[in-house]
Amino acid sequence: MATSLVWFRDDLRIRDNPALLAATADSAAAALYTLDEESEGIRPLGAAARWWLHHALEDLRSELDRLGIPLLLRRGPAAEVLTEVAAELGVAAVYWNRRYGGAERQVDAEMKQRAAEAGIHAESFQASLLHEPWRISTGQGTPYKVFTPFRKALSELGLRPPLGAPEPGQRFGGPLPHSDELDSWQLVPQRPDWAGGLRDAWTPGEAAGHELLEDFVDGALADYEQGRDRPAVQGTSRLSPYLRWGHVSPFQVRAAVLAREAERGSSAVRAYLGELGWREFCWHQLYHHPLLAKQNLRPEFDAFPWQRPGSGGGDGNDGGASPSVRLLAWQRGRTGVPLVDAGQRELWATGWMHNRVRMVSASFLVKNLGIDWRLGEHWFWDTLVDADPATNPASWQWVAGSGADAAPFFRIFNPLSQQAKFDPEGRYVARWVPEYGQPDYPGPIVDVKESRQAALEAYQALRGDL
Ligand code: FAD
Repeated sequence: MATSLVWFRDDLRIRDNPALLAATADSAAAALYTLDEESEGIRPLGAAARWWLHHALEDLRSELDRLGIPLLLRRGPAAEVLTEVAAELGVAAVYWNRRYGGAERQVDAEMKQRAAEAGIHAESFQASLLHEPWRISTGQGTPYKVFTPFRKALSELGLRPPLGAPEPGQRFGGPLPHSDELDSWQLVPQRPDWAGGLRDAWTPGEAAGHELLEDFVDGALADYEQGRDRPAVQGTSRLSPYLRWGHVSPFQVRAAVLAREAERGSSAVRAYLGELGWREFCWHQLYHHPLLAKQNLRPEFDAFPWQRPGSGGGDGNDGGASPSVRLLAWQRGRTGVPLVDAGQRELWATGWMHNRVRMVSASFLVKNLGIDWRLGEHWFWDTLVDADPATNPASWQWVAGSGADAAPFFRIFNPLSQQAKFDPEGRYVARWVPEYGQPDYPGPIVDVKESRQAALEAYQALRGDL
């Protein structure tokens, strides 16, 4: 009997998974997940993402078990590993859902080539984005740089409804090739075990993602336009890691939200779908600029005097602490600026930070502390459970002013007035910085006003050079 192989990547779910549906349509199937830290250009996962992946794979394995589909785990360059496993199983076809990063697309193209050489049918599907990044371009045929026309163009395209789960069909019966033990990948921290806060905050997996989605459409969605800016309350969906790992698909989220439009109000629904649109916009940027995490989208920023530890800058540009001291204080949540410290501590403890606070904290690092946005992006990459190769760098470039449709550099968030406006009762700050207001809370590492002025002067000098 013919068998198929389904290759799981950022789509760790059973429902609305076109590759899985194709693999099980008329044959028994086996599944494979490859931990690829070797293919050229693939960015190794950050520590919080590795923790999530461990639990996500446990969840996927038990979901697949119920369908009679074994999950094999292998480590190594993905195209090579997949070719080996396909040969060991003697499959007639391999299926996967597409990814959109430059290095990932390279791996997938190599795999298509290898499959063709081996006489295996290989087919890929759209699953993690509502619209694939190449489907739209501006009137001039170039990628979009501005969000509003991008979103308008998207809204004119048709969308498929979410798909169901495969029916339990033919169970995989043959002998199974070697599979790594999940524990041997050492994705979960042991000594020290710093993941307690992550365990308290999250249950990785498909069922937990759908529960959260249901809770959100039943509750916070109605007040999303106001609630989304209040870090002290759960005013957003917290679905970002579930979307990142593909436990829920954007098709499912969109359908669930739209189904409640009449009760919850169309402006709340529109605002929420706008955020899913920003997600698509980030992937559009990565598709067209594979070096998004490394290069300024606006090259004029290449001349900006960002500070980096060890770059010889010595003291900060306003005579304060050195770049390495500043960066460490920011990472640890010890800048003496309460909203920034609260956000950084939330991130460290839970692997997630509220969007409003992400914007304020990133702006503070880049503009008040003068540190290169790439260092902040790198820290988020390591500590966020939702870190993805498109949204993280695109958002950092947006904050830094170097990105697409970016906040103009001269619009610098004031972390103190942001705190007054969005955490007026101080509940969020009190939760994460209990010593705020006590003698042992440090004074600000830089003067907020003076450092803002220094940033504006550096920007003016840069503009003068253009
Ligand atoms: P909700 O408000 O419930 O939004 C629903 C979904 O829309 C989110 O799950 C997410 O997929 C998407 N979304 C929401 N806001 C944005 C946005 N501004 N840009 C793009 N997509 C958005 N988001 C990530 O998923 N991964 C990242 O690595 C990431 N890094 C960021 C770095 C910085 C500096 C900033 C300012 C933002 C970053 N974001 C990132 C975007 C945003 O902060 C998170 O998506 C959001 O906080 C997730 O919470 P939520 O699921 O409750 O969002």
